[in-house]
Amino acid sequence: MKVMKFGGTSLGSPQRMKEVAKLITADVDSKIVVLSALSGTTNALVEISSTLASGNKNEAKLQIDALEQHYQTFIELLFNTDDAKLKAKQLLAEHFEFLTIILKISFSEALNKDILAQGELLSTKLFSIYLAEQNIHHVLLPALDFMTIDSYDEPQIGTIKVKLAQLMQRNKDTNIFVTQGYISRNAKGEVDNLKRGGSDYSASLIAAAVNASVCEIWTDIDGMHNNDPRVVDKTLPIEQLSFEEAAELAYFGAKILHPASIWPAQYYNVPVRLLNTMDPSAKGTLIAEQAGSVGVKAVAAKDSITAIKIKSSRMLLAYGFLRKVFEVFEKYRTSIDMITTSEVAVSVTVDNDIFLADILKELELFGTVEVDTNQTIVSIVGNEITETKEVMRKLFESVSTIPVRMVSYGGSKHNISLLIPRSYKEEALKCLNKGLFGLE
Ligand code: ADP
Ligand code: ASP
Ligand code: MG
Repeated sequence: MKVMKFGGTSLGSPQRMKEVAKLITADVDSKIVVLSALSGTTNALVEISSTLASGNKNEAKLQIDALEQHYQTFIELLFNTDDAKLKAKQLLAEHFEFLTIILKISFSEALNKDILAQGELLSTKLFSIYLAEQNIHHVLLPALDFMTIDSYDEPQIGTIKVKLAQLMQRNKDTNIFVTQGYISRNAKGEVDNLKRGGSDYSASLIAAAVNASVCEIWTDIDGMHNNDPRVVDKTLPIEQLSFEEAAELAYFGAKILHPASIWPAQYYNVPVRLLNTMDPSAKGTLIAEQAGSVGVKAVAAKDSITAIKIKSSRMLLAYGFLRKVFEVFEKYRTSIDMITTSEVAVSVTVDNDIFLADILKELELFGTVEVDTNQTIVSIVGNEITETKEVMRKLFESVSTIPVRMVSYGGSKHNISLLIPRSYKEEALKCLNKGLFGLE
């Protein structure tokens, strides 16, 4: 059994969706196909939701109509037969009727999640109608029947495993299953999701749950590149990464993978392949237990970071001081990404400032607190890089013009992180591309 996940751009046009159908029927292996929403849909739904939240129903109606129009055009080009077109029209009517009904309901967080789920529900159902039109036998598995998260938003892999096995058992003679990425049910039984970009996470969780032979992530680029291609002109694909390396890159901003998407595959030792739907024969990137090589592999950047410095000449070296600081973050379920200490101060970074005001209030009891918002973590990732010669010299020479606020070295063997102001990110990534990879 393998898992094949296709992202939004891989489904962005009727032609692309037809190509996805070809890719999933290119061999006879059993597979679970995980689909995102069509590109642009989740963004459109986020916009509809925030327009509704602000009470502007007329504007929301216009946005819903524009999205419906996009889908009407899409189905005209996707289907050949009247029967399939009719089914697709009924499907659109059902989902857009739901969106129109919500205009009359008062806005809530649960409703927001229902709105966001429409993208994956639509893409998978349209794809299913298309497969049926092509006489491709398959079964649609509703993710809301097996993908569950607990009250801390953590996926419940044990429950997912049991529920998915039961659903698949009922369709023993099927070898193509199709399901939604991103969407899930929460502890209250409501529709929820795995956060933006979450279809990768769904795919990895499903691959872990069924002990898949491989988890293929099909996207619009030929694998993990050595730098962010949205920022830097010349980047190259990486042939192989260890789970640890890939997890660091995903967590520290490489958008090609959802930040949490590696751990399920790693835990259950399912290799992950990053592949390109636009160029299916390209090698892509293999993510497995072995790193394949040593040395610097890639850099990535994570924005919207807040740095907090707590200064206390009196308490810093006292036993238990760091514990007390960490307990504040634990209390507000806010995880710390980077930490550095000196004799009189400790600096930490967080990527979630929902509870920042409460956290600061409690930290102020320990000493003087300084906050810098709008920072970026730049991570340099590679197998055993902290033991690779010359890395530090090249790294610091590359960023000599950048005001580095914090450095984290030695926390793991495969990551060195720098904290810099967000406004220097582009320059830092370009300088590192030249200094570490010789690419301009
Ligand atoms: P999908 O819709 O398939 O989930 P995403 O847009 O989420 O695709 O992820 C693919 C995009 O990630 C690429 O088009 C690329 O611009 C971006 N990206 C950022 N960093 C990297 C990187 N290091 N390697 C490859 N792609 C990256
Ligand atoms: N459709 C969702 C999003 O745009 C999930 C995903 O694409 O992975 O965030
Ligand atoms: Mg994605």
